[in-house]
Amino acid sequence: MKNKVELIGHYGSDQIIAQSAWTSTSRELTEDKLARIPKLIEMLWSEGHETPFEKGSVHFLVTCDIASHIHLLKHRIASINAESARYKELKEDKFYLPEDWKDIPSEKTSTDWNECLEWFSKYSNHWYHKCLEELTPVLGRKRAKESARFFKTYNSQITADVQFNMRSFANFLKLRASEHAQVEIRDIAWEMLMLVQGIEGNPFKHTLKMIKP
Ligand SMILES: Cc1cc2nc3c(=O)[nH]c(=O)nc-3n(C[C@H](O)[C@H](O)[C@H](O)COP(=O)(O)OP(=O)(O)OC[C@H]3O[C@@H](n4cnc5c(N)ncnc54)[C@H](O)[C@@H]3O)c2cc1C
Repeated sequence: MKNKVELIGHYGSDQIIAQSAWTSTSRELTEDKLARIPKLIEMLWSEGHETPFEKGSVHFLVTCDIASHIHLLKHRIASINAESARYKELKEDKFYLPEDWKDIPSEKTSTDWNECLEWFSKYSNHWYHKCLEELTPVLGRKRAKESARFFKTYNSQITADVQFNMRSFANFLKLRASEHAQVEIRDIAWEMLMLVQGIEGNPFKHTLKMIKP
């Protein structure tokens, strides 16, 4: 299946970020101050006064391959919890197949590389479950689960709960929506951005103007 991103929550807005910055003088909002929010957001970001952006956050559920999951985990200023093959048997056997492998023939088989990986992933899942079943009576369910996962492939998909504040989201987008990032994590980053842009009322309209790659 394709990697999948859902926006499951958000907190804050351009106004909350502006008010956080205005705490240094007065948080009280007037018509005049409300009108100044776009300029203030621009000034804060361009001058590197980034802590007010930590007052907004975006929260996603991401189902992705293990390689992309590792990319996500590299971001220390993100809060991540994920499905664990250590604690439960991964029964769904979800795996990712790269679209751009389609129609590239494999010399040794009569299929393309996409199909080869599909076959290999199913084979690996077969061995994962078999190993778990046969290790359980000998080593116990706990050790069997945490070690049988060595049969899982890098394209196995797990679901993670990922939350960024808007400062760390900006850093994530800068690095992962970039052409230098791997295709899969880049797609995830752009999908996240699109979802945040699509929040009703566009609460981060001016922040997104500054942090968009
Ligand atoms: C194209 C690309 C290739 C990569 N290749 C590799 C690779 O080959 N091997 C590999 O291991 N990783 C690799 N990475 C991961 C990369 O090194 C970072 O770990 C990852 O991008 C997270 O970036 P970050 O530290 O800015 O993010 P976060 O950890 O979310 O940190 C956000 C920001 O907080 C600040 N910060 C966080 N922690 C500290 C700290 N301890 N000290 C000071 N400031 C801190 C920094 O300003 C940082 O930018 C690659 C990343 C990219 C985008």
